[in-house]
Amino acid sequence: MYKFEKNSLIKKMLKIDQLSYWERTTYFEGQDLLIVGAGIVGLSTAIAVKKKYPHLKIVIVERGYLPSGASTKNAGFACFGSPSELFEDLKTIPENQVWETFNARYSGLKTLFELVDPLKIEYNACGSYDLLRTNDEDIDPDFIAYLNNESQKITKKEKTYLIENDPNGKFGFGGIKTAYFNSVEGSINTGKLIEQLHQKAIQAGISILFGMECQKYEASKDGVSITLSIGVMKVDRLIICSNGFASQLVDEDVIPARAQVLITKPLPKLSLDSTFHMDKGYYYFRSINNRILLGGGRNLDINGETTTDLATTEHIQTALRNILDEIIMPNQHVEIDYSWSGIMGVGKSKQPIVKKITDNVYVGIRMGGMGVAIGAAVGQQLSDLID
Ligand SMILES: Cc1cc2nc3c(=O)[nH]c(=O)nc-3n(C[C@H](O)[C@H](O)[C@H](O)COP(=O)(O)OP(=O)(O)OC[C@H]3O[C@@H](n4cnc5c(N)ncnc54)[C@H](O)[C@@H]3O)c2cc1C
Repeated sequence: MYKFEKNSLIKKMLKIDQLSYWERTTYFEGQDLLIVGAGIVGLSTAIAVKKKYPHLKIVIVERGYLPSGASTKNAGFACFGSPSELFEDLKTIPENQVWETFNARYSGLKTLFELVDPLKIEYNACGSYDLLRTNDEDIDPDFIAYLNNESQKITKKEKTYLIENDPNGKFGFGGIKTAYFNSVEGSINTGKLIEQLHQKAIQAGISILFGMECQKYEASKDGVSITLSIGVMKVDRLIICSNGFASQLVDEDVIPARAQVLITKPLPKLSLDSTFHMDKGYYYFRSINNRILLGGGRNLDINGETTTDLATTEHIQTALRNILDEIIMPNQHVEIDYSWSGIMGVGKSKQPIVKKITDNVYVGIRMGGMGVAIGAAVGQQLSDLID
């Protein structure tokens, strides 16, 4: 009997020059545009370019067997600015830039909902609370009035932010002195978003190759020669949407920023139908199917978390566990089910880098912690750059 060679294909990934005529002509020859990264930005970009130029042959290469950065690992907040984060930003970033970023996030969510049906990604207009702990710096009520005044120009809502004086009584939290309710933010199902984008891309005729790394490229006026993990491919244009991993391919102000998350086992009586931020956005939590999803703590070890290693650390997981036990569910027995991490792309500015970097090569990177809000709009902007 024939003895099947276990893992023969997995161990020996075929190179392009070993592929069949059909495989080469379908996926590797005559492609007009190659996009690196199948996260929110790569998929949105491919869909936007294909809509603009239906005749273009577009392929996305993704190094993971799933998108392996942030888009399938995030908390699913459809958010654009919490008071404590805005308060902090206004200390260091020019005022007009802070509101430009706010506007980009707010209108970015509208672009997202034009691209995917909010119902299909379980969008919940549940609002959000920014929680101030007992020891946190107070926020002056005049600052909230200022935020409402400025945000009204964008959200068209008289009061985007409302003060909630008894968050402990309302949610059973411990050690929270005040909360600010943002009535316009909400949540989505992260898995469903990526699935919707994936399906839309496939329906539009875009090819997606998983397990394929873009290692380097050479650009010229005539096109781009791209070295993939299985060989060299020539395309007319290249768009790099690899966010936190972008420094492998481009020299721009973007570095990886890992963010860790935990999820509890289902809890019998959980009523947290909103999204919650703390500590200038460094911590965030929400409920999902009777579980609590809690993330953050990157500020406890900024150097250690400047990495592309998708691991978790005891130090940060313990800090998250303490927040769960002391603040979110004080005096209750809560079991953690599992943890994970994702990699964001950050830099000196909170604004994304969306531009042409050389002949026929473009980037859409540095989404920070806001890719859900701005990712689809960045895809749209990249498609506008392609002529
Ligand atoms: C834990 C966590 C929580 C977050 N919570 C929120 C939130 O609640 N709301 C919000 O708006 N944002 C949140 N974010 C941020 C948001 O997820 C990101 O901004 C967004 O997903 C970025 O999308 P992207 O497509 O630019 O990058 P990514 O999703 O990282 O996609 C880039 C892809 O490129 C691939 N890649 C990299 N290099 C190569 C290469 N050389 N060749 C081929 N493929 C390559 C990667 O594998 C990856 O899949 C969170 C992020 C994390 C990590």
